[in-house]
Amino acid sequence: MIDYDELIQLAKDSGFTNAGPLDVSTLEFLPEVRDMCASDRCQSYNKSWACPPACGSLDDMREKVKAYKKGLLVQTVGQLEDNMDWETMEETAKKQTQHFEKLLEVLEKKYPNLLAMGTGTCTRCKPCTYTEGKPCRFPDRLVYSMEACGLFVSKVCTDNGLKYNYGPNTVAYTACFLLE
Ligand code: SF4
Repeated sequence: MIDYDELIQLAKDSGFTNAGPLDVSTLEFLPEVRDMCASDRCQSYNKSWACPPACGSLDDMREKVKAYKKGLLVQTVGQLEDNMDWETMEETAKKQTQHFEKLLEVLEKKYPNLLAMGTGTCTRCKPCTYTEGKPCRFPDRLVYSMEACGLFVSKVCTDNGLKYNYGPNTVAYTACFLLE
């Protein structure tokens, strides 16, 4: 039985601005989202075991998540000076990664079989062994990005009662953990 009050507090203690329950049955793995990876805007395409084309098909992903019913959504929200404030956007993205790695360490002790889906690509090893032509070091523990899984992040948030847009001059980064 998941204690969401405790989990949300753990997420806040890790630095996240917001967190809330995730109903895994709401997740839709959309080819049109996955297709955007190939444009390589995040510069991770074909550079990680956790991103396309190496991360497997959307059907593989659907198969993996079958084992889960409940999870946790987490967000870091940044306040921008204006909509060209790239520095704060980058800082907020870095904070999101730090918060994610901190909470991942805590949750892995409580849920050893969790499936983590981050804001960007897997950062467990630097660099990812994919770039060296070697096998993934932690094939059971790698972190997929939500977009690489074909998840439309804003829809995942709204489907689960968490805001995605915090108003003008804000930026929000979202990730999730599939727990049980
Ligand atoms: S666990 Fe390491 S080798 Fe595997 S995808 Fe993540 S960064 Fe790459």
